Amino acid sequence: MSLLTSIVNTVKEVVDVARTTAQGMSVTLSHIPTKKETVSYPEEAVTIYRRFRGEHFLDVNEDGKERCVSCFLCAAACPADAIYIEGAEDPRPYAERISMDHRYAKIYQIDYGRCILCGFCVDACPTDAINHGHNFEWAVYTPGEMVKDKEYLLGNKWREPDVEPTPAQRPLAAKQKMDKLNIVLK
Ligand code: SF4
Ligand code: SF4
Repeated sequence: MSLLTSIVNTVKEVVDVARTTAQGMSVTLSHIPTKKETVSYPEEAVTIYRRFRGEHFLDVNEDGKERCVSCFLCAAACPADAIYIEGAEDPRPYAERISMDHRYAKIYQIDYGRCILCGFCVDACPTDAINHGHNFEWAVYTPGEMVKDKEYLLGNKWREPDVEPTPAQRPLAAKQKMDKLNIVLK
C-alpha cells in the first residue's frame, strides 16, 4: 500500500468517526431541552397505567371472606409453575368460614423468581380471587424472599391506591395493613 493510499484511508476513517459521533451527539442534545421523566420515588408519586401487571393480590368478598376456594385452576394454568397451593376443607357455617365456600387455600404461594406476569392465572380463576395489582417494589436480597405467601398477597389488596375496605372488611384490612403504594393510576 502506497503512502498516499494509507493517508487517504486514515482521513476517511477520521471523517467517518467524526460523522457518527456527531450523529450520536445530535440525538443526545435533542433530548436535553425536553421535559424530564425522572421521579424521586417513593417521596414523589409515579404514574402507572391501570393495565400494568404488577405483583398479584388475593381478593376477599364484601364480607371479608377469601375468594380463593382452592380449585387449583390458576396453578394448572401457570406456564412457569410459579404457584403452590395446599387446599383444606372448612365445613363451618358461612359466617365462620375463612373463604366464600367450604374449601379454602391453607397455603397459597407465588414464586416471583419464576413468575413471568403473563396473567394466565388471573384469567383462569373462576372466583376473581387472584388479580394483578400495581406493586413493582420487588427488590430483595435472597431468592427465598421472592416467594410470597397468602397473608402477603391478601395484604397487597389494601396497598392499591383506589381500594378502601368495606365495613365488614375493615378488621381484616387492619390486620393485614401495609403502606399504600405511592402511585397514581392512569
Ligand atoms: S402471572 Fe403467569 S407466570 Fe405469574 S403466576 Fe400467574 S400464570 Fe404464573
Ligand atoms: S386463586 Fe382462583 S383459580 Fe387459584 S385456586 Fe384460588 S379460586 Fe382457584
